[in-house]
Amino acid sequence: MSLLITGSIALDSVKTPLEEHHDMLGGSASYAAVAASFFTSVNLVGIVGTDFPRPYLDLFQKHGINLAGLQIADGKTFRWSGEYEWDLNQRRTLSVCLNVFETFQPNLPEHYRAAPYVFLANISPQLQLHVLAQVKQPKFIVADTMDLWINIAKEPLLELLKKIDCLILNESEARELMKETSLIKAGKALLKLGPKFVCIKKGEHGCLLFGHDLFFSAPAYPLEDIHDPTGAGDCFAGAFAGYLAKADNINHDTLRKAVIYGSVIASYNVEAFSLGRLQTLTQQDIESRYRIFKQLSQFEV
Ligand code: AMP
Repeated sequence: MSLLITGSIALDSVKTPLEEHHDMLGGSASYAAVAASFFTSVNLVGIVGTDFPRPYLDLFQKHGINLAGLQIADGKTFRWSGEYEWDLNQRRTLSVCLNVFETFQPNLPEHYRAAPYVFLANISPQLQLHVLAQVKQPKFIVADTMDLWINIAKEPLLELLKKIDCLILNESEARELMKETSLIKAGKALLKLGPKFVCIKKGEHGCLLFGHDLFFSAPAYPLEDIHDPTGAGDCFAGAFAGYLAKADNINHDTLRKAVIYGSVIASYNVEAFSLGRLQTLTQQDIESRYRIFKQLSQFEV
């Protein structure tokens, strides 16, 4: 089953205490699309400028990502830069330039409109709503967001929540959106705003999945070497949605497995800058780390 993905496609500049790289392939949709491509076919919706390097388009194509919905417009590609502290959980955004995204109002190609599965990766909720409005009868819609939209676009974000099946966000965003200190209360309160499922990511502490009669707590993979945490959340969400599209059957079992596959892909992605690590990732790598996740959370044999 195909998965439609929209979100940002960016040129990222990232600095950690040990390394610095400029104009790398980034963006929520780029990470999500490549992550999802390990599970299902992906139809990408987005925009880049004429400065977008050809090898990055080739990378999408190498992953079998359909680019019929990718517009190349006059102007500059979305740019983001960020800096990490020695504690890699602490990130400071240095700059964001929407550039060609500022006026992006995509018209979906006809064959995209029948998408059974949709992942609205992090971008303005207005754009997420615009894309979603063009999809006829999707089976399952997953959406991600960030603190910026909670602060400057809360109304359209609340409208979006009524239309989606699963919301993915990180712990600080869940607390901020619900004005709650307890994540459990925040998760339950988010369910009342519309989505049937809510997934709260806790970085190196794993994640929590809430449903009306579901609660699942997954660990994170205990990685020793993290090179660049950028895009971990997007890879998690892309692989989560990609696995569900592949399973084509939403139930508690497939949702739990989707959380683990999301965690597996995210854990690989942070081993290198940009999408470097996912370029060499194999299905065998994915299955071997999936098995380790199984052992990590097993306490009775
Ligand atoms: P994450 O590390 O999962 O928070 O995602 C980082 C990615 O999000 C980077 O590749 C950025 O290009 C992208 N990004 C940063 N800010 C925004 C924004 N306001 N809207 C969409 N994407 C963004």
